[in-house]
Amino acid sequence: MATGAASVPYSTDLATDPTEIQKNLVEKNAEYASSFDKGHLALPPAKKYLVVTCMDARIDPASAFGITLGDAHVIRNAGGNARDALRSILISQHLLGTKEIVLVKHTGCGMLTFTNTDALSVVAQNAGVGVLQSTFDFQPFPDLEQAVKDDVAWLNGNAALIGKTISWLSEASAILHDDHTEAIAMPLQISDTVAKNAVMDGIDPLDHSGVIE
Ligand SMILES: [Zn+2]
Repeated sequence: MATGAASVPYSTDLATDPTEIQKNLVEKNAEYASSFDKGHLALPPAKKYLVVTCMDARIDPASAFGITLGDAHVIRNAGGNARDALRSILISQHLLGTKEIVLVKHTGCGMLTFTNTDALSVVAQNAGVGVLQSTFDFQPFPDLEQAVKDDVAWLNGNAALIGKTISWLSEASAILHDDHTEAIAMPLQISDTVAKNAVMDGIDPLDHSGVIE
């Protein structure tokens, strides 16, 4: 167990000039580790489910979805993209015993705000023309509901996956629960909170104007 920041080494390259972010990470982690008392938790998620959701910095999955430490896997990527998450989903299900997938996309998602052409242009501007193939797919989506349906269909159609239960967060602050046999609209608290508390200005080179309703 860590006893203080001094006992946690920076990597060699960073030792002489850590950034503020790196210093914060080490210091806060030392504080966290000094009082951590959940080391007894088992590696497999206790409640045998996984959540696929967006990497959006405004989403706190543990609080927003009621996830207690040790209970579930949380797989995050841009847009809560099922295809992008497949490797982790397979490991979660087949090696670590999860039986249920909860897919959560959200209103105000950045993936609604750009096209592949836009993103390719930004990458070329930042890193050089040709660094990515022109066919690279960032998998943005113009329609949230359709994106959820597409991911659900893709997951349900993947023969390597098991025990699927798919949920999604709609623009109407509700989750659609789909277990192959029924669809139930369920009130959910986090959608509007996530969207309305957001501050995205200046964080991203892409234009997010109009993202937050
Ligand atoms: Zn998002």
